[in-house]
This record gives sequence, structure tokens and C-alpha cells, in this order.
Amino acid sequence: MKGFFPSSLVQQEKPDAGLVPKCGACGLFKGCQSPKMPVYGDGDRQVMVVGEAPGQTEDEEGRPFIGRAGEYLRDCLRRLHVNLDRDAWTMNSLICRPPGNKTPDEKQIGYCHPNILNAIRQHGPRVVLTLGRSALSTVLLDYWMDLGPLERWVGWRIPLSKHWVCPTYHPSYLLRMKNPLMDRLFLDHLRQAFEIDKDPPEAFDFRQAIEILYDELEIYEAIRDINRVGGWAAVDYETNCLKPEYPGAKIVSCSISNGKRTISYPWVGKAIVATGMFLQSIGTRKIASNLKFEERWTLKMFGRGVVDWGWDTMLASHCLDNRVGICSLKFQSLVKLGVPAYNENIEPYLSGNGRFNRIEEVEIGDLLLYGGMDSLLEYKLAMRQRKEMGYAD
Ligand code: URA
Repeated sequence: MKGFFPSSLVQQEKPDAGLVPKCGACGLFKGCQSPKMPVYGDGDRQVMVVGEAPGQTEDEEGRPFIGRAGEYLRDCLRRLHVNLDRDAWTMNSLICRPPGNKTPDEKQIGYCHPNILNAIRQHGPRVVLTLGRSALSTVLLDYWMDLGPLERWVGWRIPLSKHWVCPTYHPSYLLRMKNPLMDRLFLDHLRQAFEIDKDPPEAFDFRQAIEILYDELEIYEAIRDINRVGGWAAVDYETNCLKPEYPGAKIVSCSISNGKRTISYPWVGKAIVATGMFLQSIGTRKIASNLKFEERWTLKMFGRGVVDWGWDTMLASHCLDNRVGICSLKFQSLVKLGVPAYNENIEPYLSGNGRFNRIEEVEIGDLLLYGGMDSLLEYKLAMRQRKEMGYAD
């Protein structure tokens, strides 16, 4: 961790911490016929398939995916003209068999995580295909804290800095469910993963792109410049509560991004005036994540709402994919842009107890950096969504 933000955000890279396996600490190796199972396969198509844990057959034979679930996976891949052992590497979130094939617990996953990271680094796959929850939680351990339901993760192609992560269901789950729709989705997910033929885009240093401004005149001029350029710009307020009608409700900071410039500044004096002028001018199409929030605060602040709203990333996320739990800026930033969760340290201050959060206790530089990330990512996500929806610009 560097200062307030997780190192995963600051560096835009997987952190180096935790590469030394606490191997043996879980004790599982003691009960195995094939302890510490190595990665298997030739990886001709640069795909690393990560499962949950070796089962009985795998433990007896000393290689992954040869039991019932493995057979199902192999059959599905064969239909796509993929040979698991030739085209992929295979491994599991635990490299030893848990007794009774019990689902790995968080502690075991944590102990074994460095083994999985090391194997991925050594083999350098273009794609990491995760089967089920345990595999996904180990692969995303440094990027996202609480996965929530697996259902919201399956089918994305997540561009991390060195490889894509493609989550899907675990084949044992599909064998239990006997659900033709899920089987069909599984095939689609496998196809999508094996079809990827280029590396993910270079990691982008978001922090460096954010201008944190304190001088009122400088803020005023920067907003005027952004407005002069026109086009699209995202706007994001940080406030001390949800509703502007509460007595004591206030905006603490604001950020604006047109992709080329991202400014983040405290809500003071001339900065407020310039923001009001900007939001009520025609010519720059405004973007927000859940725009009714910015609209409501703008109405309260200036007596008029925003002019020229152009895009709401939350609404667009929902139009593109109507699953539950996927529309937040943070989730979309990870699955579409590969940006690790950047709110985990600030989140406790955003909830607080009662009406008001504790945002004003956050060091102002950290708050402005966080706000700047929001507007920059809103802009980038909006442009990406427009492209996906077939808009020309
Ligand atoms: N075989 C494995 O090696 N891993 C699984 O997750 C399932 C079957």
C-alpha cells in the first residue's frame, strides 16, 4: 500500500507482494497422493485454464481435469476444435487435493495464491480462463475484494495489465445444474476465451493523468478551457451525504474530465461559479455515472439543472447487460478497462453512520485523486460504451 490508495491502483500493475508461497501451511499436502500438482499442458494457444482443486482421479493420476468435470470440459472444448492438453495449460486454485473434495476456503486460497501467481508469471498466458468461484477469487485477489455472486462475473473479458481474465462457470456446477442455457453460455465463454488473439492494451497510469488543482483562478481557467474545447466531458461530485435537501448537505469537491484533461478541485469560491457556468452551457455534452445524482445537486446548488446531458454510464451498462450488480463505475472499470478497485480505502468514509458520511475526514489530496479517477473513468467508459452501441463518435 502506498499512502491512501492500494498499490494496485498506484502502479497499475500486479503488486509483487505475496510471491512466496506459504506452501504447506494449509497441511493439505499430507493427505495427497500427488501433492503440489504442477501445471500441465503445452499451452499452444496461450490459455491458462484455472480450476478449483484436484479431485480424487486427478490426485491419483497426478494431473488436472481428468475426472468427470474434466471430461465435460474436454468435450465442450473438442466441439470448438480445442484440445485442452495441447492448446492450454491447466492448474487449480489449490495445488493439493482437499479431503472429500471440499470447496476451498478463503484461508486455503490465500495460502496457495502465490503458487498460482507464480505459475501465471512463469508461463505468461495471453488469457487466464477461470472455472468457478475459487479460481476467479485467486486470480482477482489483488484486484477486487468481495466478488459477490459469480453470476455477475461470467462472460466478461477483463483486460488486466499482462493478460485477459475470462471467468466462467465450473464444469461440476454445470453437471449438477443440468441447465441447457448455462451449458450454452459456458460454450460461448470458452469460445470467446480461445478466440482472443491479441494482448490486452498497455496499462494506463490514471493517477498521472489527473490534475489536482487548489488555486481558484487556475480552476476557473481550466474549466473554461475544457468548455471551449466542447465534445464530451464527465462531471462528478463528492458530497457529504446523498441528498442535497438535508440541512448541512454540501458538495466537498468536483472533478471534470474530457479524456485529454482531468481536473479535480475543492468546492470553493470561483471554482463553484465556473462549474455552474460550465454545467449550464451548451456545447459540451455531459457524462455522469447515475446522472440523477449530479442533476439533483446541481439543481439545488444553482437553481437550474445541467444543460446538455449526453450520457449516463450506469444506464448504458444496464442497457448493454441487464444482470444485477454490474452497473457501478467501479465494477465496469475493472471488467471493461482493467482498473482495479480503487475505492476500498475510501469506501468506509463514504458510508458513515446516519445521514452524513465522513468524507471530510479524508485527506483532501486523496479525495481529489479519488474524484478525479471517477470522472476520468466515467469519460473512458462512456466512450467505450458508445462504441459498443455503434455510435459514430
Ligand atoms: N479437475 C481439476 O483438476 N480441477 C477442477 O476444478 C475440476 C476437475
